Amino acid sequence: MQDFGSTIKAPIFAISRLRMGTDGKGITTLVAFMGCPLNCKYCLNPQCHEPVYETDGTTLLKNIMMLTPQNLYELVKVDNPYFQTTGGGICFGGGEPTMYADFIVEFRKICGHRWKITLETCLHCSDNVIKQLSEVVDHWIVDIKTMDPPAYEQYTGKTSGVLQQLSLLQMNIPQEKVTIKVPQIPGFTDGRDLDLDIKDIERRFNFTDIIKVRYRTNNR
Ligand code: SF4
Repeated sequence: MQDFGSTIKAPIFAISRLRMGTDGKGITTLVAFMGCPLNCKYCLNPQCHEPVYETDGTTLLKNIMMLTPQNLYELVKVDNPYFQTTGGGICFGGGEPTMYADFIVEFRKICGHRWKITLETCLHCSDNVIKQLSEVVDHWIVDIKTMDPPAYEQYTGKTSGVLQQLSLLQMNIPQEKVTIKVPQIPGFTDGRDLDLDIKDIERRFNFTDIIKVRYRTNNR
């Protein structure tokens, strides 16, 4: 396998192998990046918000790996037979994987097109990043949080750009490559009719794979 000698590195806090049924088709390995532009109240991976380094600024905190795409490939290639026989591959999550578009593009060059690459994303990113990733990502799993802008802001700490983000996605990605998650968020969207939100998304956009989920609360 060609070594691209990348200088691109990314902080990764988890690599979870042999997953089925949670990250799209086939057997997948979840790769979780540090960092996220949102600050969700019930973040499933609050570790992604922690610092990457000790206070000395150079020592990585426990369990965090600073990897190049080639380093990552060497770690995950053990599951190549599973990926190829089941149509699976790598699911990039976190944290927010769109913060690491250059890394993912380079990883695709290394792993080739035999593996499926899935993103689990809040899609809080620029048009350019979506375009860049459209070339290399096979499936997008997009958690929109909520269609209610005030609730979105209360829950994530950021102003909602959901409609604009979905519009960008529609312009750049074929609809069969997109799954949209519409969550029920305890304490934030109680009483909201998610079926109406789904109909609203279907009316505005061409997405057809839209699923309801329910968040669990945590102690964050
Ligand atoms: S978008 Fe995901 S990773 Fe980011 S804060 Fe929300 S739940 Fe956590």
